[in-house]
Amino acid sequence: TRTQDDETLPHATKRTMADHLRRLETLFTLTPQRLRMITHAFRETLDLGLEKKEQVVPMIPTFVFGWPTGQEKGDYLAIDLGGTNLRVCLVHLQGQGKFEVTQSKYRLTEEQKQDEGQKLFDFCAESLKTFIDSNSGEDGILNIEPGQNLPLGFTFSYPCRQDSIDHGVLIRWTKGFGAPNTEGHNVAEMFQKSLDKFELPVTLTALINDTTGTLIASHYVHPDTRIACIFGTGCNAAYMEHVKDVPKIKDLGIDGDLDMAINCEWGAFDSFEHEHLPRTKYDIIIDESSNKPAEQAFEKLISGRYLGEIMRLVICELIDDGILFLGQNTYKVEVPNALDTALVSLMESDPTDELLMIIGIMSHFFALETTLAERQFLRAIARLIGRRAARLSACGIGAIVGKMGYLESGCNVGCDGSLYNKYPGFAGRIQEGLVDIYGEKARNIYTHHAEDGSGVGSAIIAAMTKARKDAGVY
Ligand code: BGC
Ligand code: MG
Repeated sequence: TRTQDDETLPHATKRTMADHLRRLETLFTLTPQRLRMITHAFRETLDLGLEKKEQVVPMIPTFVFGWPTGQEKGDYLAIDLGGTNLRVCLVHLQGQGKFEVTQSKYRLTEEQKQDEGQKLFDFCAESLKTFIDSNSGEDGILNIEPGQNLPLGFTFSYPCRQDSIDHGVLIRWTKGFGAPNTEGHNVAEMFQKSLDKFELPVTLTALINDTTGTLIASHYVHPDTRIACIFGTGCNAAYMEHVKDVPKIKDLGIDGDLDMAINCEWGAFDSFEHEHLPRTKYDIIIDESSNKPAEQAFEKLISGRYLGEIMRLVICELIDDGILFLGQNTYKVEVPNALDTALVSLMESDPTDELLMIIGIMSHFFALETTLAERQFLRAIARLIGRRAARLSACGIGAIVGKMGYLESGCNVGCDGSLYNKYPGFAGRIQEGLVDIYGEKARNIYTHHAEDGSGVGSAIIAAMTKARKDAGVY
């Protein structure tokens, strides 16, 4: 490793690493006052989305009515088209909040995300066929009688306008997807076409968002769950709302005593107008070079798809300023998206005094040697970016909690996604943020790692839907 001494001598006017760190701290730190302002605006936005159709934060009625009983049982297939993977699962619900899951995962390529929409659904159907074929037969776990169809839940984690549980028109792609001929189309129908093509023994019973699935699956296991969040490649939340408090669906004539899950699609908060969120120049570069400029403004400050890139842009700026990696060839780190968010979270969690993990990461991925001061600097940046993401997330949770009166009653928030599960301190920082917003009473609000929403959740929703249909209240 190099030592500090190889750096050129700073002139009087040149900013030092410490100067930069102070500047970045100011840029990325949100005061309690600022958090309260954002939460306030957030809450108004959520209310507006419930009141009027076609809002930026669409507050989507999901047609999932009320909580599961915990007694839902049976075998269900689930397919989950996420931001990074396609997953196929067989879920065996056993009642009493218990279940078993058998699954296969397939990595999605960047090309598939941009290819013709119908082809993407064909790939989903084909993967489902592979899964069914390889798990059927003599000693397979799947036992489908001839003529019988298994209920299938489709977790599609993009904003869809729904007017029933097995229908959904894609409002817009997020998380870097851009498959043509899909936005504005009923994706359940498109997927059904692909299922027919492969003649699969399944019935598509429900189209669900990952947050809605997480809400229901978490409640199945922890009945005090009221809200669910995903902090992964994208970010979003769902919660259970009173039908009577959703003015925009009044004309549907749904029983006002019922509750319905709402998929907030809060990643869209502050899109287009950019009035409320503290965007830095790095955030603006990311937005403008994305395939959807101006959209998903909140998500772009928080989710795993973007955090690595924010850090990389900070690093590149300091390379240009002659602060980091002097005299080394830095081309590898200058490639857009070269720094994965998973690496940022590893850098922050390095437990060694010498920051050996950061040495390894920087040399393995970017062929860069680092001084201890540089590594400490990198870790400090990772911390600032992760902390800002968690505190902004607290504003979203705070808005729902405030609106629903859960500060007084207390509630559990089921959370899933790679950031929540792997980014060091993410959960604790959300909690800190909530305390900054609401004071000590925020300690009534707990987040916990949720059950697999997109698999188990979609199975439970399929079971709930079947029960409603059987009872004639569909
Ligand atoms: C999507 C949401 C999804 C979230 C988490 C966002 O980009 O719009 O539908 O719930 O990512 O996967
Ligand atoms: Mg997912």
